[in-house]
Amino acid sequence: MNAREPNPVAADVRRLHLPIPHSALRTPHLVRASLRRLLPIVSVVVLLLGLGAPPAFAQSPAVPLYPADAREDKALKAAAAKLRESGALVPDTTLTNQFARTSCNLSLPAPRKSRLTGRELWAAARAAHIRVGWHFLCTKCNNWHLDLAGGYAITKDGAVATCQHVVKRPGNFKEGSLVAADEDGRLFPVIEILATDRRADTCILRIPAKDLKPLPLHTDVTPGDRCFCFSDPLDERGYFSDGIVNRFLTRQPRRDTNAPPVTRLNVTTDWAPGSSGSAVLDEFGNAIGHVTTITTLPGADDKATGNEKGKRLVEPTLITLHEAVSAKDVLALIQKPGKNGGR
Ligand SMILES: [Zn+2]
Repeated sequence: MNAREPNPVAADVRRLHLPIPHSALRTPHLVRASLRRLLPIVSVVVLLLGLGAPPAFAQSPAVPLYPADAREDKALKAAAAKLRESGALVPDTTLTNQFARTSCNLSLPAPRKSRLTGRELWAAARAAHIRVGWHFLCTKCNNWHLDLAGGYAITKDGAVATCQHVVKRPGNFKEGSLVAADEDGRLFPVIEILATDRRADTCILRIPAKDLKPLPLHTDVTPGDRCFCFSDPLDERGYFSDGIVNRFLTRQPRRDTNAPPVTRLNVTTDWAPGSSGSAVLDEFGNAIGHVTTITTLPGADDKATGNEKGKRLVEPTLITLHEAVSAKDVLALIQKPGKNGGR
């Protein structure tokens, strides 16, 4: 095999859909290593704070501080339990039966046309960011879990877009329902699935909110355009990154080889499992798509470096591909009000 053509099977194995399973994805060893790296930086910050005369915060007044490694937020978990006990959650079968819906009627905000600054883009991305996932009783440990990935408001009155694979019931699901959380710490029941497309990995759902800060959907995008992503990679909350659009590509979903392929974007913003469904923004603050997969392409000498008895195969990564669903496929689920066939 040509060294520059990764084995498609091997690459496929590395292609991850990105919601976080409730079991830890990170090893204690890695956590300890990152703490060790952090210590010299902390010392420098302490020194600097001590030298300046007036005490100063590191961040502007409106900037929130996120705890590092915030697995299963306790306040949100308590809020989810309260919703469940009050009977406000919609039965999972009601929601999953609505996966068959393929279109909905929504009035969308018009795309923004003025360039935003970095901090304005962060604020817009964060304000629209709606985490979506299952609050469920686990078949393995008999505990209730809250497993949230990403999503983003697309209308002020409660329509939220995310990935279809984010709303798929987890394998260890006994009972439960879908919930959504905004960045102000509010937790909502998901009251309706408005439309989904499994092939495109898109879903639009509704939460009972009337004051969301939506991102307009926009498809006028070319490689080289700057882009941004606000998400929660591996439970690291509120991580904002920038990059460019690398390319557009077509992908033939597995098990569905007779239908036309879906169009996707590669971008260089950062993300990891847990980021799924989070919006990818252009520099005007429009959503040009959302996070769906991450793929690592292995180096040529991967077979030479391991797989001996008892040893883990070490495969150097040459490049990491971040693949986003196109806003076109979210728009494909939406009919404008007044047309037939929508809801
Ligand atoms: Zn469990």
